[in-house]
Amino acid sequence: MLIVMEKTATPEQIENVVSIIEQKGYTPRPIPGGERVAIGVLRNKGPVDAALFLGIPGVKDTVPITRPYKLVSRETQPEDTIVTVGDVAIGNGRLTLMAGPCAIESELQALTIAEKVKAAGAHIFRGGAFKPRTSPYAFQGMGEEGLKIMARVREVTGMPIVTEVMDDQTFDLVETYADIIQIGTRNMQNFSLLKRAGRSRKPIFLKRGLAATIDEWLMAAEYILEGGNTQVILCERGVRTFVNHSRNTLDVSAVPVVRKESHLPIIIDPSHAGGRRDQVIPLSRAAVAVGAHGLMVEVHHEPDKAMSDGAQSLYPEQFVSLCRQVDAIFRILQNGTDAI
Ligand code: PEP
Ligand code: MN
Repeated sequence: MLIVMEKTATPEQIENVVSIIEQKGYTPRPIPGGERVAIGVLRNKGPVDAALFLGIPGVKDTVPITRPYKLVSRETQPEDTIVTVGDVAIGNGRLTLMAGPCAIESELQALTIAEKVKAAGAHIFRGGAFKPRTSPYAFQGMGEEGLKIMARVREVTGMPIVTEVMDDQTFDLVETYADIIQIGTRNMQNFSLLKRAGRSRKPIFLKRGLAATIDEWLMAAEYILEGGNTQVILCERGVRTFVNHSRNTLDVSAVPVVRKESHLPIIIDPSHAGGRRDQVIPLSRAAVAVGAHGLMVEVHHEPDKAMSDGAQSLYPEQFVSLCRQVDAIFRILQNGTDAI
């Protein structure tokens, strides 16, 4: 349940409601809004009796939360969450473009790609230092050396950086360097990692598990919000189906569903969805048309020599073309869908 306080409610009245919730054995979660404070009631086993709160000074109304993902749900927070990193915002009505190689391979490689994607219009640099690979014999990433290179890219280009964390043991290390911490598809239900992410003060980029339903994905995000970190960005990156013409199947329908259900921003990764270079631009156009808040795209200046995911990495010139195309689609949408 959500307890909506009056606009004029005093801090003492809010504190009073918080302590009543605690006395009942539930967990209170004040949620400051633009207009007024609301207080979420968490960890209730059954329905909460509204009569306990209606009539208490400062309480305006009570609203039942019907969804299992309470903090992530629009029932709790109707307004969109805007995640801010440096001077880049995600979910603020502009299209956010994240681009870079699958893996950081050297300082020269990272800087070369970063300069090119920045010139094309990217806002955030992506790159993996710790790589989850299907084969233990495949390149596992440069580790901390890769993080240092990413920090250097940030210093040189001014772009914030997003990189993946694979486990609890390396969380502190990744957190020190990253502006946005990625939890990859294989770790979407790694609950100890999600709990650790909830204690972080850095935004978390949560990829959808490759066989996860939207409910499971939103419940994974709920772990992070429940832990106290409200800065979560969702990323649809394709799900496993029977097809073999692409690496995964991009679930474009996830975007309108997530935008209806949740206030969190949603990004599409067309690279891991398609898995093939020639699918990335068409899927990006679809992603923007369906209402994604942004894209995460793999780009490499020498994809044939890439140490991972070369086949799906765009050449920098293709990324320039992608940026132009999605910008044109986004501008049409900004004029309102009635204009189409
Ligand atoms: C990645 O973004 O580098 C990655 C490994 O993605 P995913 O978790 O979607 O496979
Ligand atoms: Mn990759």
